[in-house]
Amino acid sequence: MSDHAVLHVKGRVVVGPEDVRDELWVVDGRISYDRPGGARDVRTVEGWALPGLVDAHCHVGLGAHGPVEPDVAEKQALADREAGTLLIRDAGSPSDTRWVDARDDLPKIIRAGRHIARTRRYLRGYAHEIEPADLVAYVAREARRGDGWVKLVGDWIDREVGDLAPSWPRDAVEAAIAEAHRLGARVTAHCFAENSLRDLVESGIDCVEHATGLTDELIPLFVERGVTIVPTLVNIATFPGLAAGGEAKFPRWAAHLRRLHARRYDTVRAAYDAGIPVFVGTDAGGTLPHGLVAAEVAELVTAGIPPLEALSATTWGARAWLGRPGLDEGAPADLVVYDTDPRADVRVLAAPRRVVLNGTVVS
Ligand SMILES: [Zn+2]
Repeated sequence: MSDHAVLHVKGRVVVGPEDVRDELWVVDGRISYDRPGGARDVRTVEGWALPGLVDAHCHVGLGAHGPVEPDVAEKQALADREAGTLLIRDAGSPSDTRWVDARDDLPKIIRAGRHIARTRRYLRGYAHEIEPADLVAYVAREARRGDGWVKLVGDWIDREVGDLAPSWPRDAVEAAIAEAHRLGARVTAHCFAENSLRDLVESGIDCVEHATGLTDELIPLFVERGVTIVPTLVNIATFPGLAAGGEAKFPRWAAHLRRLHARRYDTVRAAYDAGIPVFVGTDAGGTLPHGLVAAEVAELVTAGIPPLEALSATTWGARAWLGRPGLDEGAPADLVVYDTDPRADVRVLAAPRRVVLNGTVVS
């Protein structure tokens, strides 16, 4: 029995692809499937409930030119929350956002520390910019600072080559990934290009961000090694604009980005068809706004991923991958309620009726 207000969510509660229930209760911020006895102050929310959405590639505390003040980071997290994103895998941030953990009203964050890039081979102000000899030490440091992930920049434009090129020699990434694993952290890398992927995957990387360079030749290797991808299609949509901006100075690079952009849906569809796990990430922060999770799910469906699988990539599937509960008995009540069935049309995700975080209706 609870003296606190009880929330009653009824309609259709989509716990998983094959587990849809009629109702759940929220007692002391946690999910219960048993009606609490003696509840007096009951608030009812009706609709289609999903586990709080996951944005598996999001940056809180990062702005266009690097770190931002906590009040800006808070606005970013609130924009994600309004969109129904209640669990974020932060794919690299130069700000210390630990304070968010003490805030019941902000999305939960799984951090990857700060990006680790090669010197002058990433957006200015974002990353630790280092040379290969220091990679193991920096990976160890960020593994200890983060929440079980480390983020590398696997490729970027090499201005001398005039095109995308791998950031790290093979022996450096092998040693770095081994060190992260020894410390219990998984490793992911930003990769736009084709030729950075084999070394990273054969070195044991766990996940690749963007993965626009995934080819038919590389797909079986990803499958064999169990590497996941987070395509961030809402970010890849910006490639033509980037290409136009860099055309005059780096025509090869610009043409390369256009090719990667042109085949982006085929790349994602081929990866999915082969059995590579695909998850939803928006790449919010830096240059893209927060709150684009529904748009990314819609993009995955446009690429040819079945709607229920695209939903899984931001709900139960993504949560299982990240080791966080969904709508489980006793779990924190993080859920989003919609007017109609998001399984029938994922565009429903763009307009949550209610957002419930730690059992409180926050939106
Ligand atoms: Zn990113």
